[in-house]
Amino acid sequence: MELPFSSLQTPCYVVDEALLERNLVILKQVIDRTGCKILLAQKAFSMFACYPLIGSYLNGTTASGLFEARLGKEEMGGETHIFSPAYREDEIDEILSLCDHVIFNSFSQWEKYKAKVLASGKSAGLRLNPEHSTQDHAIYDPCSPGSRLGITLKKFRPDLLDGIEGLHFHTLCEQDAAPLVETVAVVEEKFGPWLSQMKWLNFGGGHHITRPGYDIDALVSCVSRVQERYGVQVYLEPGEAVALNAGFLVSTVLDVLENSGNIAVLDTSAACHMPDVLEMPYRPPIAGGGGLGEKAYDYRLGGPTCLAGDVIGDYSFDEPLSPGSRVVFCDMAIYSMVKNNTFNGMNLPAIYLKKQDGSIQLVRKFGYEDFKTRLS
Ligand SMILES: *Cc1c(COP(=O)(O)O)cnc(C)c1O
Repeated sequence: MELPFSSLQTPCYVVDEALLERNLVILKQVIDRTGCKILLAQKAFSMFACYPLIGSYLNGTTASGLFEARLGKEEMGGETHIFSPAYREDEIDEILSLCDHVIFNSFSQWEKYKAKVLASGKSAGLRLNPEHSTQDHAIYDPCSPGSRLGITLKKFRPDLLDGIEGLHFHTLCEQDAAPLVETVAVVEEKFGPWLSQMKWLNFGGGHHITRPGYDIDALVSCVSRVQERYGVQVYLEPGEAVALNAGFLVSTVLDVLENSGNIAVLDTSAACHMPDVLEMPYRPPIAGGGGLGEKAYDYRLGGPTCLAGDVIGDYSFDEPLSPGSRVVFCDMAIYSMVKNNTFNGMNLPAIYLKKQDGSIQLVRKFGYEDFKTRLS
């Protein structure tokens, strides 16, 4: 079978501009139908070569810290928002110079920086913890018991709201509209009395809006209802949904071994180039590949590091793999480049952009210096 990208040196990420734009068109429809604003959560996808395109559809970026905020402001512009579990004193002035909305995780942080925020004229908000879990990925659940993320109703201080213009919650992960609707109802039940005092409400990320089958009508009616009822501007800040299914990680088989089954050693690593495969765990689809036993030839795919657990997963193929065979992992734009690392001296995959006209442009290549300059 002829796989795409056969001329590229591997490993490499290839982001497909047409697939990215397909997502952006869907998100823009939500903006147009509701009047809400949508920001790119850079934590999922920070390929700033694509920021001019993304910025032509969305309203700006959100960040979890100073560096992301600066990247968003410099490379995309539009609105720049930030939420951090705690801000550093030596960064707050620069953050206030860059960001339009600054969201605090506690009343102690708000009290600490209130005078500076008010003097800057920027909009201050608070992150809520509605304590309503709608998913069971514990490490991605900010509502899990003992969570440090967001203010619970018990800790909410209506007496300290003077100067606060917005409220924020982020509790979803790869979810449809129904869990959002459910969460909004809990937020209204717990924090309802204060919602109409606000200028804006931020529904966070985790909305899988661009996934086929996502109930966009339910999202639109939820956003519109909240905006009308409380007189607020609603913000959504998806990360995944912006670049969902818009990128690939292309790799090559280096060797094939046998130990209670066939094993292919690739030139790409789960630990270094797709850490979510081990952390989440996440199983990337492979172009032309299937689950174990689905196709004629089964393989366990592993990386070239010395970590025993550097295993991507068990897959099957129509043809046997041999050194030089290409393996193309799908949905590899998000939570990949932003998380990769040079553990064990692994090089980082090059980054390519497949343009709308079909041409493929090298955006960035990495080498020994990138590995060395992170060490000392
Ligand atoms: C991670 C995160 C997002 C984006 O989440 P996705 O699951 O990528 O859509 C948005 N807002 C906050 C506060 C986040 O932590």
